[in-house]
Amino acid sequence: MVVHGRSGGRRRLPEDGRAVEIDALRPAGDCFVARLKGVADRDAAAMLRNKDLYVPRERLPAPDADEFYLADLVGLAVMDRDGKKLGTVMAVHDFGAGPVLEFRPDAGGDTVMLPFTEQIVPVVDVAAGGRLMVVPPAETEEPAMWRASVLTIFPEMFPGPLGASLAGKAREKGIWALEPVDLREFATDKHRTVDDTPAGGGPGMVMKADVIARAIDKVADDARPRLLMSPRGAPLTQARVAALAQGPGVVLLCGRFEGVDERVITGRNLEEVSIGDYVLSGGELGAMVLIDACVRLLPGVMGKEASGAEESFADGLLEYPQYTRPATWEGQPIPEVLVSGDHGKVAAWRRKEAEKLTRERRPDLWAGRGKK
Ligand code: SAH
Repeated sequence: MVVHGRSGGRRRLPEDGRAVEIDALRPAGDCFVARLKGVADRDAAAMLRNKDLYVPRERLPAPDADEFYLADLVGLAVMDRDGKKLGTVMAVHDFGAGPVLEFRPDAGGDTVMLPFTEQIVPVVDVAAGGRLMVVPPAETEEPAMWRASVLTIFPEMFPGPLGASLAGKAREKGIWALEPVDLREFATDKHRTVDDTPAGGGPGMVMKADVIARAIDKVADDARPRLLMSPRGAPLTQARVAALAQGPGVVLLCGRFEGVDERVITGRNLEEVSIGDYVLSGGELGAMVLIDACVRLLPGVMGKEASGAEESFADGLLEYPQYTRPATWEGQPIPEVLVSGDHGKVAAWRRKEAEKLTRERRPDLWAGRGKK
């Protein structure tokens, strides 16, 4: 009947506003069995089945030491381990798996739900100016998932290759999330038109600014960079990929037809990114390239965290040649140094080979080294 203790009972009060009087009461396990005045037989009792019963807070007896009414928690200050105030308790819920504390963070944003257990809420002080201390469970301290929203007229192309292998497994593990957004949903006519003829004439069609703007305004309501896949953009580099992977995610707009009305590019601050000096028929493959390159750098995606640090471009160099068994294949042996077991010599050989390859194949990379 009374709500106390952390695994406390439930409030049992009449929800139809009717007052009932208790004649007799005896404890039975976690609950009480009560006889109500005027409820004399089985049928009358059945009428009360599944009814919640409410007791005015001021009528409840003082709780025992280390017990409290959940209702008294509302309004308490929520502190962290160091005594810093995090927010204020809004409500205590019971969805069936024990009480859940909901508090409003002082920093703004969504309210936070925490299980109301001894471990997560070790200190509760209901006395004047009350407060409670919370120790959030580990997962609430982890950074939010890396999120890629892809605005496209072909949402069915996704996840496509991003659903397989490294990226696919990482998505299953919840390391990143993919949100394909159908641009046609933001059209206003019954044909769901997203394009129109180019002003000034010429071939092809141009994607409409208003449709794209509505989609961006709905989806990109956070700090993620907004990129437009575009052959006119800055060529994507490993450095840019690494920077994007460190952020909260990306919002990617995929062009189709001749491209996108220039006004939405400037009006919504879209940064144009190219995946190379050639023209694709749409931005979707480019978006997949960009997402794949970012996802493999997210913590926990590649087997060994270090394996990203040694790759092509990581150090402004292309990667050294790789070999695996058999020791000799079609008469070609693995370079001797690699089977010598001398780690210092192996590292020096790899460095030299990487430099040689970069000089020969990518004089532009070689010339640009150390300039950043
Ligand atoms: N008329 C445009 C090309 C349009 S191709 C021009 O000459 O620049 C259609 C869409 O494909 C583009 O809007 C863009 O989103 C995408 N796209 C094409 N090539 C790309 C590239 N190299 N990198 C990134 N996106 C590309």
